[in-house]
Amino acid sequence: MNEFHIYSPEEQLHDPLFTEKKVNVFLKRDDMIHPFISGNKWRKLKYNIHEAQSLGKDHLVTFGGVWSNHLLATACAAAKFGFKSTAFVRGEDINSDVLVLCRLFGMKLIFTDRSTYREKRALFDKYFADDPQAIFIDEGGAGQNAVQGCAEIITELSRPYDHVICAAGTGATFAGLLHGMEISGVDTRCHCVPVLKGADFLKNDIHAYFNTPPSQYEFHENYSFGGYAKTTDELLRFIGDFSSRTGILLDPVYTGKMMYALYDMIRNDHFPAGSSILALHTGGLFGLLGMKEQIALALKGN
Ligand SMILES: *Cc1c(COP(=O)(O)O)cnc(C)c1O
Repeated sequence: MNEFHIYSPEEQLHDPLFTEKKVNVFLKRDDMIHPFISGNKWRKLKYNIHEAQSLGKDHLVTFGGVWSNHLLATACAAAKFGFKSTAFVRGEDINSDVLVLCRLFGMKLIFTDRSTYREKRALFDKYFADDPQAIFIDEGGAGQNAVQGCAEIITELSRPYDHVICAAGTGATFAGLLHGMEISGVDTRCHCVPVLKGADFLKNDIHAYFNTPPSQYEFHENYSFGGYAKTTDELLRFIGDFSSRTGILLDPVYTGKMMYALYDMIRNDHFPAGSSILALHTGGLFGLLGMKEQIALALKGN
């Protein structure tokens, strides 16, 4: 077994709604890949780490916000695979739970105001132009390496599904799913749930990874709950309800919105009876800890 071996089973979920609508719903447990290099962040880092190793680099440099699952994944992966790590962190110095863990994994944090942060290449060059050991990894790990890694979500599946659904931030993971469909030649319909408001630009970002833009997918834009990292009591109560009935946690930023969307679409007969549906648990549960107060209020009485 090599260090890149992972465990991500496809588990069937049971719910009276699924029985009533005659659909079979499965959850691919990428959240089980690793507690800190979680979900799609593992997928997105895998080939970046291969590349860094093959180029003989010893220092991963990347970017993210104070609650970034990607920063935590990079910090832990760097420690595990023998790299140093540095992160440019967007905004002021806030000691979030995620950043505490990043520090424990030895990541060096450089807090950067929002306008400077936008010029990522310039930032990298300013600090690391003279360091041949440093390698640039984009925010969220996005890029061709990420798409290659996420394609394996599809190529490693144990059986075909009629539908696959996942949450999208940058869309790199979703592009990876579409790429995996191309490689494996299966006829699965892909469903994208953007977690940002007005995410039409995402389509262009996804298409940019392809010579011929794929068309066999659906975009479901009505589940952003007001925008990135925005939430509502209704969403938090849905997450609490799902978690209490399945023993599986969802985060309010990504997987909670995706799962809410899936339940809503099933309720509205979006999927024909007999459909098999695979939802992707992209991991990243520490986002929950950024909303402790709201969760306590929304679940008051539980
Ligand atoms: C980062 C993240 C995403 C978004 O992935 P993209 O490739 O940027 O679309 C989805 N889910 C979780 C849990 C994440 O941490």
